[in-house]
Amino acid sequence: MTIWLLAYPVGEYVPSRRGPQPTAAARIADQLNVSRASAGEMLKRLEAEGMVVRGEKKEAILTEKGRIAAMRIVRRHRMVERLLTDVMGYDGAESHDKADGIDAGFDDEMVERLWERLGRPERCPHGYPLDARHELRENPTLKPLSKFDTGSGGVIVRLAEHDGDLLRFFYDAGLTPDVEIEVVHEANGSVTIHRGEDELVLTQDQARGLYVRPTGVPVVPADAACWGAKGERTIAVVAAN
Ligand SMILES: [Zn+2]
Repeated sequence: MTIWLLAYPVGEYVPSRRGPQPTAAARIADQLNVSRASAGEMLKRLEAEGMVVRGEKKEAILTEKGRIAAMRIVRRHRMVERLLTDVMGYDGAESHDKADGIDAGFDDEMVERLWERLGRPERCPHGYPLDARHELRENPTLKPLSKFDTGSGGVIVRLAEHDGDLLRFFYDAGLTPDVEIEVVHEANGSVTIHRGEDELVLTQDQARGLYVRPTGVPVVPADAACWGAKGERTIAVVAAN
């Protein structure tokens, strides 16, 4: 799942600025908060299982088998987040971490039962599509708030999930999926936005974690044509830099 999220980084991952040229293992270690050696071991296991191959620059590439496994795990994680918010009453900021602890116990049938029971939701509480193919089709239509110019705006679609404190900030500030915002001033490393009547000042890092559909860009529906033609073995790549 981490390789998937790193390969398709919309709303999920900001490359580490700790040092120059991190390798794939370093980026995975950074995201999972484990040592680089453990991340290397995990990659070796995934290679042995035929989920991952290593590219010319040692980057991790999901094979067809790995990609299908990643899509199932991504769906399961997002579905369990919905269980936590919709049934158990956790808020979105709590649900991501809590789901990490329990989602591995859900098999495919349980995930599909949940999906039916919860009214066939399309997204996790943080706006990520349950169907990873939908996620990929939608990616090009979204932009981080940090890339918006003064006077432009749109609707928040996804929130970066990997940083618990940042996620908590978004919920406390009322910056959640489907909320409309407008950039009123953008300068000196901060972004001032309007959310309805309220004016909020965000840092660049905070603005980078909000993925917004610019005004006028059409919504990508969940049931549009399918992604995943054969031969796309190298589609999920964690670049070496
Ligand atoms: Zn989520």
